[in-house]
Amino acid sequence: MTAKKPGKAPAKTPPKKPIHLKSNDKSSKIQKPGSETPAKSKAPLPAARPAVAPVVKAPAPKATTPQPAAFRAKKTNGAVKVGVVGCAGRMGQMLLRMLINAAGVVVVGGTERRGSAALGQDLGALAGAEPLGISVTDDPSLLFDAADVVVDFTNPTATVQHAQMAAKTGCALVIGTTGFDSDQLAALVRAAQRAPVVLAANMSLGVNLLQQVVEEVARILDPDWDIEIIEMHHKHKVDAPSGTALALGEAAARGRGQQLRRIARRVRDGQVGPRVKGEIGFATLRGGDVVGDHTVIFAAEGERVEITHRAASREIFARGALKSVLWAAGKKPGLYSMRDVLGFNVQAPTTPSGSTPPSS
Ligand code: NAD
Repeated sequence: MTAKKPGKAPAKTPPKKPIHLKSNDKSSKIQKPGSETPAKSKAPLPAARPAVAPVVKAPAPKATTPQPAAFRAKKTNGAVKVGVVGCAGRMGQMLLRMLINAAGVVVVGGTERRGSAALGQDLGALAGAEPLGISVTDDPSLLFDAADVVVDFTNPTATVQHAQMAAKTGCALVIGTTGFDSDQLAALVRAAQRAPVVLAANMSLGVNLLQQVVEEVARILDPDWDIEIIEMHHKHKVDAPSGTALALGEAAARGRGQQLRRIARRVRDGQVGPRVKGEIGFATLRGGDVVGDHTVIFAAEGERVEITHRAASREIFARGALKSVLWAAGKKPGLYSMRDVLGFNVQAPTTPSGSTPPSS
């Protein structure tokens, strides 16, 4: 059975309560791949899979317009139909590779920004795999009609546009992009009223576990313990501090019953004076090909506790994205976090109006 978009939820799927910015709802337990979305057979992908490219020049259909036969008639053996926006990026390519080889999902299209050298290339070849017969396009609108779930590792401006398409079509959206400002976050929250949206600044199991540990340690230690967060990423990363560092800051602030935006010290430069008691400091390092290192330091007189996570490969994020895809297919509209996907039972984060991404 193919996972359906909201409004067309599979009959066997019990209605799940959409959760908004809550991670401890029972409905957020992880679903075994295959429970909603039966695994795809090991048979090769359909040879005559329709390409997105030939139809991109057609006017974008309204949500109520029946899909072109080429999309409607896809034989997916009950697998979840997945689209990847930003498919030529570092994460996009890694994810494509994983999706192509995964059971229970089938890639139905991929997009890139206008002018990208990847436009027109075969998605399979782009991922270093066998050709899929699907070309990269720069028009995501048909992709959102065709897919059950779209995964987005692009940039905040593009992601907001994609979220609006998800809201229009009801297609689930898994967002790995980081660096949203509060207006952009609010736009994602609005879109999540119409479509299931998983928003996760870090999709790795280890970092999500780290967040939980940091929250707990911050709760246990008194405010005499200073909290500082150091992160390092590759030289191409454009936002700082990283979404994960901020999410760890949110976790620490929650542990102290505070809102991060009130106590964050994101940059120190020049004559900044002594450290303000209770603030949470950030330090950002950039260089080489570092996938992502994060350390949370709790420092007191005479002793220090340091908790570190190091990502050795982007595969850990792609694995989390794949888990999110299988989990999100057929879910009710709502804003979900990686902790919902992983089934972690933690205290609900604060609201986005408090600028807290409901993410990992
Ligand atoms: P990247 O620059 O390699 O890839 C981004 C891709 O998006 C590029 O290929 C770019 O051309 C494409 N793009 C830009 N605008 C587009 C549009 N309108 N439509 C389609 N494609 C478009 O960056 P990356 O390293 O892959 O990271 C992407 C994002 O994911 C960043 O925000 C990064 O911080 C985040 N990230 C998140 C996680 C996580 O676990 N959540 C892990 C790694 C990276």
